Amino acid sequence: MKTSTRCQDRTYLARSMAKPFMPEKNPGREKFVVPGSKLGVIEEFTAGKGTYETDGAIYSHHVGLATTDTSKKAVSVVPKNDPILPAEGQNIIGQVTHAMEKIAVIDIVKIGNKLSPTPFTGVLHISASSPRYEKSMSEVCRTLDIVRAKVASTTDGIIRLMTVGDNLGVLKAYCSNCGYPLALRRRLLKCDRCNNTEKRKLADDYNS
Ligand SMILES: [Zn+2]
Repeated sequence: MKTSTRCQDRTYLARSMAKPFMPEKNPGREKFVVPGSKLGVIEEFTAGKGTYETDGAIYSHHVGLATTDTSKKAVSVVPKNDPILPAEGQNIIGQVTHAMEKIAVIDIVKIGNKLSPTPFTGVLHISASSPRYEKSMSEVCRTLDIVRAKVASTTDGIIRLMTVGDNLGVLKAYCSNCGYPLALRRRLLKCDRCNNTEKRKLADDYNS
C-alpha cells in the first residue's frame, strides 16, 4: 500500500479506536467523540472542521463534540482541549504530595462530591491555611495527609487553595515517625504505635 505515514497512522487510528458513531441517527445532536471515532461516510456527509476522511469514511481528529449540520450535510468536531478547572468556592479533597516550609502541594482527588476527572494539582500557601498565624507548614499539614480545602482562586490556571474554616483542613494524618494513622487526643494528634505527638490544622470532622 503506497500511502504516507500520516495516512497510515490515521487509518490505523480509525480502525483501532472507538466504536463507530453514526450521527445521522441523531440529527442535530452533539455527541462526545475521541480521535478515530467514525462519524459517517462521504456518500452522506462532507468532512467538516476537526474531521478527516479515509477510505470513504469520516473520522474525528479530536476529543470533543461532534455535530452534524443536516442542511449542509456536514459533520464537524469541536475539540474539547481545556479540562474544566475546579470552580472558585468549591471544596476539594486531596492528598498532600509535597509539604514545604510555606507551601503545600496537593493532588486533588475529589471536586465537590465527585471524583476529579482530571488530575489537578492545587497549592496551599501558609497564609491561607489557618485563621491563626502559622509559622511552619508542618503545623498545618504534612506529606501524605488527606485534606479538605476550598478553591480560593484559579487565576492563570493555578489552583490556589485555602483551609481557613472549621470544616476545612486535615481529615486524616499519618505519623511522621512511623506512618501510622494519628488519632485525635485533646487537640493533639497522637500515634498509638510510637507515642509521637504532632499538630495540624484540623477539619472539625477529623478522622470521622
Ligand atoms: Zn508513630
